Amino acid sequence: MLNETFHAPGDLSQACSLISDLGEKAIIIAGGTDLMVRFNRHRVNRNVALVYVGKLGLNFIKEEQDHIVIGACANLADITASALVQKKIPLLARACSQMASPAIRNAATLGGNLGTNARNADGVAALMALGAVVVTASTGGEIRMPIEAFVTTPKKEKLANGGIVKQFEVPCLTADERWAWEKLRQRQGDSRSILSVSLRTKMAGNICKSMRLVLGSMAAHPFVSKTAAELLEGKYISSELIDQAAKEILSETDPGTDSRASAWYRAKAAQVLIRRVLSQLV
Ligand SMILES: Cc1cc2nc3c(=O)[nH]c(=O)nc-3n(C[C@H](O)[C@H](O)[C@H](O)COP(=O)(O)OP(=O)(O)OC[C@H]3O[C@@H](n4cnc5c(N)ncnc54)[C@H](O)[C@@H]3O)c2cc1C
Repeated sequence: MLNETFHAPGDLSQACSLISDLGEKAIIIAGGTDLMVRFNRHRVNRNVALVYVGKLGLNFIKEEQDHIVIGACANLADITASALVQKKIPLLARACSQMASPAIRNAATLGGNLGTNARNADGVAALMALGAVVVTASTGGEIRMPIEAFVTTPKKEKLANGGIVKQFEVPCLTADERWAWEKLRQRQGDSRSILSVSLRTKMAGNICKSMRLVLGSMAAHPFVSKTAAELLEGKYISSELIDQAAKEILSETDPGTDSRASAWYRAKAAQVLIRRVLSQLV
């Protein structure tokens, strides 16, 4: 049976102290679009203290030098509509625009997307392709961590001492960089990923200077493909090389079977999507 209390601290240090004091009982809630589903399905069944982070002023989207800094509580609708995001990191605007439904995007936050720790977290996949850094705040101070390290670090370590995800720092795309985002889903609206493939790359003509290709829903977490970088960087991107990459990148994956798709289907579809994003470069 649930026996929850609700707290809505008004500033960040107060929130960190509160979460630290509450210990195991504390559960952070932002938009609630993931957490409330778990509550309703009785997947959270102990005495809990909900700590609402929506009053901490963490819904900003701003430019700082060559980065876009996005507060953890910025919602997906605001990120999609942000002129700054559309201009400087359009990959993220595209990914957010394809998540869930308009109603959910008005509540769901980017910090909450990271907090779900889900293999199909689209916001996380997009941030990873962009090379984002996660900033957490706790009673011990702030920590900055690349998002790919964050997703594999145990929660007790990365959010110790009342830790809260505070913001994301995303390097702006430069004039010589390209990006791509492809999401496969069961229907156009309100549908989670069967899988996603995204990339950020630097090209000189058809020569690939750098490649950051991310797969979502193809392992326990979205991940940056090492094979893609090893195979493509410094090379002329031909259709033969794209075919080779689409096959070899699969060796890094561990696709699961769920209600959306089988592992077999995901492996087949991943090759199609990898070819599709890489073909956009030539
Ligand atoms: C119908 C439907 C469709 C959906 N479609 C998609 C989709 O297409 N793609 C997708 O990726 N997701 C999808 N989702 C999942 C969900 O909406 C997103 O993951 C959303 O971004 C979660 O954000 P939230 O603010 O609602 O998180 P919440 O539900 O409030 O929290 C989620 C988790 O994150 C933790 N958390 C929240 N904020 C912080 C913080 N600042 N610091 C530390 N921990 C925090 C919470 O404790 C909780 O464990 C869908 C959900 C539904 C119900």
